[in-house]
Amino acid sequence: MSSTNISADLFDRAKALMPGGVNSPVRAFGSVGGTPRFMVSAKGAYLTDADGRDYVDLVCSWGPALLGHAHPDVLAAVHAAVDRGLSFGASTPDEAELASLVQQRVPAVERLRMVSTGTEATMTAVRLARGFTGRNLIIKFAGCYHGHLDSLLAAAGSGLATLALPGSAGVTAATAAETLVLPYNDPGAVEEAFARHGHSIAAVITEAAPANMGVVTPGEGFNAGLSRITAEHGALLILDEVLTGFRTGPAGYWGLTSGSADGLSAAAWTPDLFTFGKVIGGGLPTAALGGRADVMDYLAPLGPVYQAGTLSGNPVAMAAGVATLTAATADIYASVDARSLELSAALSQALATAGVDHSIQRAGSLFSVAFGTSERGVHNYEDAQGQESFRYAPFFHAMLDAGVYLPPSVFEAWFLSAAHDDAAMNRIIDALPGAARAAAAA
Ligand code: PMP
Repeated sequence: MSSTNISADLFDRAKALMPGGVNSPVRAFGSVGGTPRFMVSAKGAYLTDADGRDYVDLVCSWGPALLGHAHPDVLAAVHAAVDRGLSFGASTPDEAELASLVQQRVPAVERLRMVSTGTEATMTAVRLARGFTGRNLIIKFAGCYHGHLDSLLAAAGSGLATLALPGSAGVTAATAAETLVLPYNDPGAVEEAFARHGHSIAAVITEAAPANMGVVTPGEGFNAGLSRITAEHGALLILDEVLTGFRTGPAGYWGLTSGSADGLSAAAWTPDLFTFGKVIGGGLPTAALGGRADVMDYLAPLGPVYQAGTLSGNPVAMAAGVATLTAATADIYASVDARSLELSAALSQALATAGVDHSIQRAGSLFSVAFGTSERGVHNYEDAQGQESFRYAPFFHAMLDAGVYLPPSVFEAWFLSAAHDDAAMNRIIDALPGAARAAAAA
């Protein structure tokens, strides 16, 4: 195994200066153990750490790097934007350009508001839904993560699942009481909640396909059913595409389940609001919410729901977003889809050969592995939490030692990019049998 001395020293220094040594919890390698790698550069499918070692990256910055890291078109657009200045605190031409690119892919986005993080997008969507409907209750699903806003931190998957936390300290009981948490993939539970509280429910928020309890495939018609029931009760459906948007296809996961993958064909159903993040900013801090014009126009300055941001629509981030969506052609999605199928098949094969019971969970090009779940599969948070998660740490470290950087938690999706070429794929595939044996021995 190669040296991790410099990363270890950097981690020691960081721990003395920042809580847990990190600025986002999963980065601390809490559930897999060992030294978190401090990264110094990224190019294509590869990350390079402070000790000079490179890794094939299967995190892709948790989603944004769809084209691969440091794509030449995106870098050129960013360099040009930087040369014009970093932030103006005023409107700029590229904001409408990016909004228009989003609308071409997802026509139901009649209006778009840029923010800086996915958390801000969902937080604003929830406030807007409450302001528009005049109601208080929000339905979310256990295991879905929508960012770290108070009202959506209950049973929130992602880092909370990794750290085995049910929710967060600091969220008041009054706030928690206004969120109804339902089991995922259970239309009956949704029907029942609406039968009891229909007149008080402002919105249902759901990940377009959950990818923060590992990946979970929405059951056939589940999202369409949410659209129907919210409309029947005068509530809104907020489809959180922060992670899946512009990653699982040109029109995100909505495109795959609405019959409008290209954004051009008529959609069988549409949510009232979408939230986007990650790919939309091409690696810079941009996210957005959008949807029905009558709802979106409830935002200030036209409407009574307030929201603002010093760095919203930042010109450098807009340039990265425009360049990323422009470069993300149908070929890019086809290549990521094909690599994803190739890799998940190789993963499944390696685990089967090593005798490790598992299921592969899939949503478009996103997938994850759940150990010990072949009989039932994983359909909700309870299933995800019931898996043999202890097998992941040895699997993860065997891959890391072989130069493959996986998400440091079993509850996260594996992300590929269009830069994962044969050499990168071969490195991953060659490492799988050894990692599978390590998982078997756990
Ligand atoms: N929604 C979903 C579905 C996410 O996956 C995430 C982040 N992983 C967020 C919202 C929050 O985004 P951010 O981390 O940019 O605040």
